[in-house]
Amino acid sequence: MSEYIRADKQLFVAAFGITASLLTGITLGLIEVYSGFAIYSWMFWFVIPVGAFLSGFGAASGYYAGAMLFHQKPVGGVLLNMLSASISAFLIIHYIPYFMFEIDGIRIKEVISFWIYLDIDIKNTSLSFLRGSASTGELGGFWGYAYAILQLIGFSVGGFAVFAWLSQNPYCDNCSCYLKKTGKQERYTSEGEILIEQIKEFASLLDAQQCNDAIRYQAENMGVANSSGHYLKSRIITRTCPGCGINHLDFITAKLSGDDWKDIDGTEIIIFTKEQLNPVGKT
Ligand SMILES: [Zn+2]
Repeated sequence: MSEYIRADKQLFVAAFGITASLLTGITLGLIEVYSGFAIYSWMFWFVIPVGAFLSGFGAASGYYAGAMLFHQKPVGGVLLNMLSASISAFLIIHYIPYFMFEIDGIRIKEVISFWIYLDIDIKNTSLSFLRGSASTGELGGFWGYAYAILQLIGFSVGGFAVFAWLSQNPYCDNCSCYLKKTGKQERYTSEGEILIEQIKEFASLLDAQQCNDAIRYQAENMGVANSSGHYLKSRIITRTCPGCGINHLDFITAKLSGDDWKDIDGTEIIIFTKEQLNPVGKT
């Protein structure tokens, strides 16, 4: 019975994924037909397929939503689905112009097959520089395909990024479900050496199974709640499993670099605990 339910859920996830993939492909295909602008072919420095990456990301996002909603663990099957969603979107994007374009009142689709059209389209790709003042001309077979493969890689990387993002969400293996976030507490300081000592104290409280004492210790001793003027941060996120109620604590420190907070490697502490956790921070 449980096997049946799992297969059932996977079908729902697949439906979400296929819908997002179709919507992404059709939307981008129609934009290309009506505006002549192919978003998916947008590249940085002619080699980094940013547009394709974003398109693949959009196509795989439905699987993300479905997997979260139906609590499907990010395993190989999900990854394969996300990659195939991204690659299908690539094909759909090319299929829309094939389906809609006319030459002298004759629809392309009535004259040649899709695969022949795709082959011609890829070989005849020409890259235009800004404002069309210069162009590479037609890329031809080799470079045309190299360019198409680059785009496909972009689509796949987009799908893979969504998978990696999904994999970051803590999961309860016992109940086969994603944990629910219950709180977040951040403290800011500029006293690096003191912070290192405090992290040791914090970790020893966790080792002693005094999780709420550790949470209170971070709130009261490890800095202030206001970030202004500080470049070090410690952060606790608490989660709970909606199934068995087990609690999850995720601690990490980060450093301000420019305008971004960068996690400091090796400072993350993750534990599961039966103790009911009550963070005092804002959620
Ligand atoms: Zn559980």
